[in-house]
This record gives sequence, C-alpha cells and structure tokens, in this order.
Amino acid sequence: MEEKDKYGKELDLAVRIVHMACSLCQKVQRRLLSTASDQVLAKDDDSPVTIADWSVQASVSWLLSEFLEGQNVSIVAEEDAQTLSKSDAANLLAAVVDTVNECLADAPRYGLRSPKKALGTSQILEAIRRCNSTGGTRGRHWVLDPVDGTLGFVRGDQYAVALALIEDGKLVLGVLGCPNYPMKKELLNYNHQRHQTLPRSPRPSNIWEKGCVMYARRGSGQAWMQPLIHGDMKFEWPNSARLVQVSPVDDPSLATFCEPVEKANSNHSFTAGLASSMGLRKKPMRVHSMVKYAAIARGDAEIFIKFARSGYKEKIWDHAAGVVIIEEAGGVVTDAGGRPLDFSRGVYLEGLDRGIIACSGLALHEKIIGAVYASWDSSNL
Ligand SMILES: [Mg+2]
Repeated sequence: MEEKDKYGKELDLAVRIVHMACSLCQKVQRRLLSTASDQVLAKDDDSPVTIADWSVQASVSWLLSEFLEGQNVSIVAEEDAQTLSKSDAANLLAAVVDTVNECLADAPRYGLRSPKKALGTSQILEAIRRCNSTGGTRGRHWVLDPVDGTLGFVRGDQYAVALALIEDGKLVLGVLGCPNYPMKKELLNYNHQRHQTLPRSPRPSNIWEKGCVMYARRGSGQAWMQPLIHGDMKFEWPNSARLVQVSPVDDPSLATFCEPVEKANSNHSFTAGLASSMGLRKKPMRVHSMVKYAAIARGDAEIFIKFARSGYKEKIWDHAAGVVIIEEAGGVVTDAGGRPLDFSRGVYLEGLDRGIIACSGLALHEKIIGAVYASWDSSNL
C-alpha cells in the first residue's frame, strides 16, 4: 500500500463514526436541557456522566468491531459498564439501549451499516466492556473519549467526541467532533452567550452556526474540518471538507491562550503567571474539553497550556485526537520539558514532564518553554 493511502480506510470509517456520535450527543443534549431530569450522574471521582457517554462508547465500539471484522479490535476508552450493570440501574440501562439503537438505525445516512436487528442489553453492555484495552507499545489501539468535557455537555456548552488510532505506540490519526463549535469563530461567543442566558432555547439552524468535525492523518501535513449535518442535509464526505491551519501569529502580545474551565483540572494561577511573564495580554479563552485543541488547529487561538495539580494523571483519550490534528495543521504539542507526549505507555501519559503545551508554532513554543523554566521555581504546584 502506498504511504499516502495508509490508514485511509480507517480514517474514512472514523470520520463517519464521529459524525454519527455527534448527532447522538446533540439529541441527548437537547433532551437533557429541555427536561428537568436526573440524567446526570456522578462518577467515583465526582465527574459527571450521562447516557451520552455510555451510548457513544457502545455505538463506536459496535461499529468499529463490525467494520474491522476479522481484526482483533483493541479500544482504550473512558467508560466502563459497572454503574450500568447495577441492579438499580435498569432505567438508565434501558435509556442507553434505546439511545444506541436510535443512533445505529441512522447509520446508513453516514454510509455505515445498521445492525440487522436492534441490539439487546447484553450486546450493548458487551460493546461497552470491550473498550477496556490498556493500549501499549505494540499493535493497533483505538483511543476514544465518548464525551470529552461532560461538564460542558450538561451545561449546554462545549464538549467533544474524540477518536484516535495508535499504531506501535505512535499516533496515526485523530478525529475530533465538536458539536457546539461553529465553523466560524465569530459565532462562538454568540452561541456561548445564548447558552448562558437561554439554555433551553432551540439552537439556530444555519449550517455555519452548527458544529464541526476535524480530522488529520499523521504525516499528511494536512488537517481538515467538515460541518456537522442536520435536518435533511445529505452527508457528503469528503466533499464538504476544508483545510484548516494554525494561526501565523508569533508575537505573544497578540496571541490568545486557552485553558481548562475547571480549576480542578488546571492550575490557573500558575498559567496566569506564565502568561504575564511571556507578555501575553489577551484574556484567556476558557473552553471545556478538547475543543481547545480544535481552536488552535484552526487558528482561533495560539496557545493551550495545561498544568494539572499534583497527583492528577493525564489520560491518553483526553489528548490523542487533538494532538495529531494540531501537529498536522502546523502546530507543536509537547510536555513542559519540550518532549513529545508519549501515547505508548498505557492509559496514562506516563513520564509527562509537569504539563502540556500546545502551540501554533515553534517560535511561541520556545518562548513558553523558556517562561516555564523561569517561573517554575517560584510556583507552588
Ligand atoms: Mg469523557
């Protein structure tokens, strides 16, 4: 197989699957916001989880196994089936089963096959459980965050569906679905404010105001973006895709940096100190989920800095898809020591030096690494 076609089939499949998963999430989010429901649960670490998380994981797992027939499909994903298997979770499980079947029934629209008959409870639990691979240095592993930024999701704000493929420890492709991240940046604030003040109003129907799916294949030097389809629109792939590129800005005073919304996930005072020592003047863009990676890949922002509090270990599914997309769009992602992130060592980004620095270009990246070294000793992380 020619190098340029390598992973073509996998990318095609992954893009279709992520589009479908985004549509599932949009439906669940609409219902969640329009009913006063108890559909948001807390996990052991207190982070929220909804039927969308399990339903996307089950659907993606089923579709990958179905289409990569004959391969032993290894999937590293965020959710497990424990909560759903409990005796008091019958209603929850029934909601997941309905949501998955509703989603899979729509598969032909995306050029995928639906199951011959609706999946049963045990098949769906099995599909979720099957995603318990721990990755590693050898072979192919799909990496999935079914809903990245569940907190943003339940607030009607930004979230992402992230699917990546690792082969022999190296990231080879990434697909990032961002259902509330409009194709045009100018519409972001509009949507955001709308959600803040009118969380239950229907979303606008203009295609430019809807979300997007971004994707890239390692070594292609290209990252792409496609609008999500809605209503009666036809799914056109890859015709509707357009190239995206990182921002050319390399002057820190003109650069925008993103950081997580949640303080538990990031040390805001350290990043604020870092930003001021680098001469960043703009207000940070605080966005839920891997949409931050999308923002950098398509030039809406220049820098994403994340320094987790001590004891927090970064998981590969929170970064994999975003990293390959930024890199192919012309950007750089490393740890704070300037080393590439290592996706080969299991579920966690083991050996990560302090934090993650994603950036639109080498010039800015070098300045950040320098600023980290200068301000590290005075920080209290
Ligand atoms: Mg998640």
